[in-house]
Amino acid sequence: MPRTAINLKAELSKSTTAPLLPADSEDSALSVRLKQYLKPQDITLIWDGYRYAYAAHDGVVRKTGEPYITHPVSVACVLADLHMDVPTILAALLHDVVEDTLITTLDIKEQFGLQVAELVDGVTKLDKIEFQSASQAQAENFRKMLLAMSQDVRVILVKLADRLHNMQTLEAMRPEKQKLIAKETLDIYAPIANRLGLNEIYQALEDLSFKYLYPMRYNAISKAIMAARGNRKEVISKILESIKQQLANSGIDADVSGREKHLYSIYKKMTSKATPFSQVYDIYGFRVIVKDMPSCYLALGALHALYKPIPSQFKDYIAIPKANGYQSLHTTLFGPFGTPIEVQIRSAEMHNIADAGVAAHWLYKASDAQLTALQQQTHQWLQRLLDIQSESADSLDFLEHLKIDLFPDEVYVFTPKGSILALPKRATAVDFAYAVHSDIGNSCVAVRINDELAPLRTELHNGDHVEIITGSLAKPNPAWLNYVVTGRARAHIRNFLKSQQSAESAQLGERMLNQALRALHVEPKQISDEHWQKLIRDYGVKKKSEILTEVGLGKRQSVMVAHQLLALTDDHLEKHNQLSASSLDTITIRGTEGMAVQFAPCCRPIPGDPILGFINKDKGLVIHTHDCPSVRKFKLDPDKWLDVEWESDNARLFKTNLNLTVANQPGMLAKIASGIAEAGSNIDNVSVEEADGSAYANLYFTVQVKNRVHLAELMRSLRKIPDVVRISRTKGNVANNGRHVGNKLSLQ
Ligand code: MN
Repeated sequence: MPRTAINLKAELSKSTTAPLLPADSEDSALSVRLKQYLKPQDITLIWDGYRYAYAAHDGVVRKTGEPYITHPVSVACVLADLHMDVPTILAALLHDVVEDTLITTLDIKEQFGLQVAELVDGVTKLDKIEFQSASQAQAENFRKMLLAMSQDVRVILVKLADRLHNMQTLEAMRPEKQKLIAKETLDIYAPIANRLGLNEIYQALEDLSFKYLYPMRYNAISKAIMAARGNRKEVISKILESIKQQLANSGIDADVSGREKHLYSIYKKMTSKATPFSQVYDIYGFRVIVKDMPSCYLALGALHALYKPIPSQFKDYIAIPKANGYQSLHTTLFGPFGTPIEVQIRSAEMHNIADAGVAAHWLYKASDAQLTALQQQTHQWLQRLLDIQSESADSLDFLEHLKIDLFPDEVYVFTPKGSILALPKRATAVDFAYAVHSDIGNSCVAVRINDELAPLRTELHNGDHVEIITGSLAKPNPAWLNYVVTGRARAHIRNFLKSQQSAESAQLGERMLNQALRALHVEPKQISDEHWQKLIRDYGVKKKSEILTEVGLGKRQSVMVAHQLLALTDDHLEKHNQLSASSLDTITIRGTEGMAVQFAPCCRPIPGDPILGFINKDKGLVIHTHDCPSVRKFKLDPDKWLDVEWESDNARLFKTNLNLTVANQPGMLAKIASGIAEAGSNIDNVSVEEADGSAYANLYFTVQVKNRVHLAELMRSLRKIPDVVRISRTKGNVANNGRHVGNKLSLQ
C-alpha cells in the first residue's frame, strides 16, 4: 500500500512508544555488529533511521515472502561488517525509501541531515541506470559511469551491499530474471568490488552469479569440493601445525589459517587454462597474518627454511602493491606430500585493506591516531587506483570532505542505441556527434538530450541520453570551433572548412581562368585534356583542381596560367590575340562564392557599389568599394587588383555599416531596431557610443541589405523616426566596439 509522507511522519512520532522492533533488539544480527565498533549514541541514531525505514516499507513484502524491511537491514549488516561510518549505515537502511515510497530526498535531509540524504539520492540515481550491452568495452564504460555518478565512494559501497543481498535472495525470482541480474552482477558489480579491493564482497558476488548463470557447473564444482575436502582435512591440519610450530620457533607472533579458493575462481582457472578440477583444487592455501611489515619478511624466511620454495612463484606485493592497493607476500612451497602449498603473508593492517579495500578508508575511527597512517595510505592508494588528479586537496582535506570526483576528466553518456560513450569533461553535443561518426558531426543541426531539444553547444553530463538530429543540407559551422573540446571534432571541422574553401576557390579560379582565356580569344573548351596534363606536369601538381584553387586563392595569376596553357597548344592559339591583362573581362560577383570571395569589413560593399577585387594570398579574392580608404593605399600594386562587378541578380543579403546620431533618450535603440526590421533588413551587430551627459549618442549598426536601393529605402525610413539627427553609411573607419579608430585600416 502506498502511503503519504504525512501519514508516515504521524506514525514516526508514535514510534518512540512502540515496542522494540526486531532489528533494534539486543541480539539482532545488526545490533550485534554495530555494538562491535560504534558508541551507544551512534547506535541510537541508527535505530531512528531503522524505525523510519520500517514505517515507510510497512506492509510491503518481498518476493521471498519476508517483510521488505529485512532487505535494508541486511544491506546495513554487510556494511556494518566493513565497519562503515554512521551516515553509510543510515543510508543503507533508507536506500530504497525514496525509490519505493512517497518519501523524498528532502524529507530524508530534514530527518537525518544532508550527508545521509545525498548518499540515499546517489543510490537512487544509480538504480535508474540500466546496463544492456554485452560488449566488454561497454561494460568497462558502464562501470566507470557508475563510479563517476557515485561521486562519494560510500554510494557505490551501499550499492554493492544492496546488490549482494539481492543476489543472496535471488532464489525468489523467475529464472530468466535471475540470469539477467546474475549476468549484470558478473559484468559490472563484481569487477567494481574487485577494483575497490572489497575482496569478500567480490568473491561472494562472483560465486552467486556463477550459481545462477551456470547452475549445473556450479553444482558439479561445489560437490567436487565437498568430496575433496574430507580427504584434505588431515593433510591440511598437519601442514598447518608445522607452519605454526616453525613460526613459533622463530619467535614470530602469527595468526595462521587455511584458505580455500572461491568457486568461480576455480572455474575460471579450469576453463582458461584447460586444467582439470583436481589440479586446480589440489593446491593447499594458507594465510599468515603477522603484526607488522618486517615480520612478513621474517615469516617468509622461516617458511622457506621449512619447505623449499618454487623460485618462479614468489611475488612481493608489499614492495610493489597491486593496483587495487593489495599488499602481501605470495610464495609457493613444495609440500610434504608432493603437492604445492600457496602461502600469503601480510600484516594485520594489510589484511584489513585486502578484505575491506576502499571501505577501510571509512573505518569507524576507534582512535584517530591509530588509524591516521592507514587512512593516509588508503588515500594514496585510492588516488592511484582511480587516477584521481588531485588539484589542491591534501590528504586531510580529502578525509574531511569525503567527496571525490572519481573520473574528473571524463563524462559518460548514452547513445540512442544504449551504448555508452566516454567523452572528455565539458564535451558538447557536437563532440558527441563527431565521436559517433564524422558524417553525423558534419551534418548535425540539433540535439535531443534526455528527450528534450537543446542547442548543439550544450555540455553533456554523466548518464545523459543523447540523440543527434542531422540535416541533409547541414554543414559544419566555423563557430563550433569555439566550444568543441575533442581533438577529433576539431580536426574534422577544420578539415571540412578547408576542403570547402578549396572547392570554392577552385570554382572561382576556373571562372577567373576562363575569363582570361576569353580575353585571349580562346574558348575554354578548346583547351584539351592533353594540354592540361602537360601543365599539371610542368607545375608539379597532382590535378587540375589544384591549379584552379591556386588561381582562386591568388597564388597564381590567371593571365599567366592562360598564357602557359596556350603556349602548350600545338597551333598556338594565342597568336590571335594582342590583348593585355589590363583589358581582361571582369569577373562577376554573385555573393554565393562562399569562402573564396570575401567582402572587406572595412567598406562592406553591397550590390550597386562600384567594386574592385584584391587578390590576397590564402584568403582569395577580397572585394572593396572603389572609394574605400584601403583601396587608395593599395592601388600602387596593380598586379593584385582585379576588375570585378556585381552580377545583376543577387539573392542573398550583404552586410554594411550605418552610423546614426540620435537624441540620447530611453527607447531610441528599440525604435531604430524595429525600424530596421520593418524595412526588411537584419541587424548583424550594434554598438553604442555615448558621451556622459551628452544630449546625443552615436549608434553603429551593421545591417544586412539586398543592395544600394534597399539601403537607400532603409535610410529614408530611419530618417523619419523623430530624434534621429543624422544617418550615414560608413566605410573604413568604425570598429566593432563602438570607438572610432581613425582612418588606419589594414587590408584583409
Ligand atoms: Mn535495495
